[in-house]
Amino acid sequence: MTASGTGRDLAQLPKAHLHLHFTGSMRPATLWELAAERGIRLPRSLTDDIALQVEPTHRGWFRFQRQYDTARAVVDSEQAMRRILREAVEDDAAEGSGRLELQVDPTSYAPFVGGLTPALEIVLDEAASAGREFGVSVGIVVAASRTRHPMDARTLARLAARHAGAVIGFGLSNDERRGLTEEFAPAFRIARDAGLASVPHGGELLGPDHVREVVDHLAPDRLGHGVRAAEDPALLERIVEAGIGLEVCPASNASLGVVGTAEQVPLRPLVEAGAQVALGADDPLLFSSRLLDQYGTARRMGFDDAELAELAASSIRISSAPDEIAERLLAGVRAWLAAPPPANEGHVGS
Ligand SMILES: [Zn+2]
Repeated sequence: MTASGTGRDLAQLPKAHLHLHFTGSMRPATLWELAAERGIRLPRSLTDDIALQVEPTHRGWFRFQRQYDTARAVVDSEQAMRRILREAVEDDAAEGSGRLELQVDPTSYAPFVGGLTPALEIVLDEAASAGREFGVSVGIVVAASRTRHPMDARTLARLAARHAGAVIGFGLSNDERRGLTEEFAPAFRIARDAGLASVPHGGELLGPDHVREVVDHLAPDRLGHGVRAAEDPALLERIVEAGIGLEVCPASNASLGVVGTAEQVPLRPLVEAGAQVALGADDPLLFSSRLLDQYGTARRMGFDDAELAELAASSIRISSAPDEIAERLLAGVRAWLAAPPPANEGHVGS
């Protein structure tokens, strides 16, 4: 059986996963177990396995953030951090991801493990060993938060720069409506000077004007989301010409009210304009939808196997994977498409 009923098995399609947050990657069962061990009571919305649904308002975002903070409260030890990372890599491998670029803001875990540097080093160490174990190339993105002072972002950028190599990018996450984008430019300059990719969020809760600000000030290699660029053809053209990749997360956009349903994400117009897209899950813990589900959504939107293969290839091309890994994964994409589709196409229930 394939992910959404028909066509080739999407789990076998090699792909790169470029938009996944550390805590948000947690398996629900792991959250429940860690919370029980700690005597932490979880709100029903975190125990029912149903995707969070909020309106695209401050209150909606606040609700999302509160859930995220509740989940983060169980991550209070090196052991918990290692488990979450290892399971994220294991789950990605099961869905055909050969390259995972995982975002982490070490700030919240630092107090439990002796500081920012040990927090990041735990992540890097486990990423390397889990990557080897499950056959996934893993790169870490250090992400600053828009809700904190830009000085904190600079501290994180320096930390990321010192670990360049295992750390492959620098991001900026949290409520897009908070903070002044230009004030984060110095942090991104530090990261870029160290050879890190610039991968801030932008164009999710706010529209084209804000995407333009992010492009002007943070010189992104990729935009987290960026889907709102579809509303402005001139901006989209600029993004395509600059080769800025878009990390498109349909389930996330639907859960946070950016679009009505995942299938309404403007994936088709973005791709037709020539944008390089990587589908991502963002926070599967809260959106009850993993990487493979995003490809299933694209299939339901009418993307055929050749187009799905091109989406996967595009995710690999805009990743920071070392050349030999990217080439191997791209060869796998070609092989996936060259294999005959299953004979029972169109007759498989989901
Ligand atoms: Zn995100």
